[in-house]
Amino acid sequence: MKVLLIGLCAFITAVGTVAYAAIDQESSVNKKVVILMGPPGSGKGTQAKKISEKLGIPHISTGDLFRENLSKGTPLGLKVKEYIESGNLVPDEIVVDMLIDRVSSDDCRDGYLLDGFPRSIPQAEALGKELGDNIDLVVINLEVPDDIVVKRIEGRMSCKDCGAIFNKYFTPPQKENICDNCSGELNQRSDDNAKVVGERLKVYHNQTAPVEKFYSAKGVVKTVDGQQSPGAVFNDLMKLFN
Ligand SMILES: [Zn+2]
Repeated sequence: MKVLLIGLCAFITAVGTVAYAAIDQESSVNKKVVILMGPPGSGKGTQAKKISEKLGIPHISTGDLFRENLSKGTPLGLKVKEYIESGNLVPDEIVVDMLIDRVSSDDCRDGYLLDGFPRSIPQAEALGKELGDNIDLVVINLEVPDDIVVKRIEGRMSCKDCGAIFNKYFTPPQKENICDNCSGELNQRSDDNAKVVGERLKVYHNQTAPVEKFYSAKGVVKTVDGQQSPGAVFNDLMKLFN
C-alpha cells in the first residue's frame, strides 16, 4: 500500500510538472516586449501609442503607472506618494514592483510596450529576471540629436485662440507671432526655455546611456532616425517588426 501511495504521488508530481511546463511555455511563446527609448521632444509618446495600436499590445508608461496607483490609492501608490511629497526619487524597487504588477495582467499575455522603463541598470536587471529568456525583446532607440530636440521644444508656439501649433525654427508662421489660421496671437510656453530643455536632456542621457549599453551587449538595440517626419519614423519602426 505504502509503495503504491508513493508511486501515485510520484505520478501526480510528474504529471503536474509536465502540465506546468506546458502552460509556462505556452504563455511565453511569441511574447513581444518592446522597450522604446527616446529623449524628450523625440515624439516617443506619439509613436508608442501608434506602435501599441498596430501590434495590439498595451502601451505601458511609468508616468501612467504612477498616476494609476496614486489615484487608486494602492499600497504601492501610497509609498510613491510619500517619496514624491518629500521631494525624493521613487526607488527602483517600487517602480519595478509596480511594473511587474502591471505586466502580470491578462492583457499583457502576448506582450507589451514599455515607455520610460527601464531607467536604470537595476530596473533593467529586474525586468530581465521577470521576463526570462523565452521572449522576443526589441529595444528601440529613437534618435534625435540634442540641438534638434532643443529647437523642437524651445521653438514651439501655439495659438491662444485656435490652438494651432507652430515652431519658429521648423514651421514658422507667415507673420511673426501671428497665427496663420485665425490671426490670433501665438504663445510660447514659459518652461520651454533652452535651459530647462538642456537640463532634461542631461538627465535623460545620464539615465539612458548605461541602459542602452546594457541592451547593446545583448544585441537587441535597434536605432531609428527620429529626425524624420512622424509618418516616416513610424514606417521605419514598423519595419522592425516584419
Ligand atoms: Zn489660431
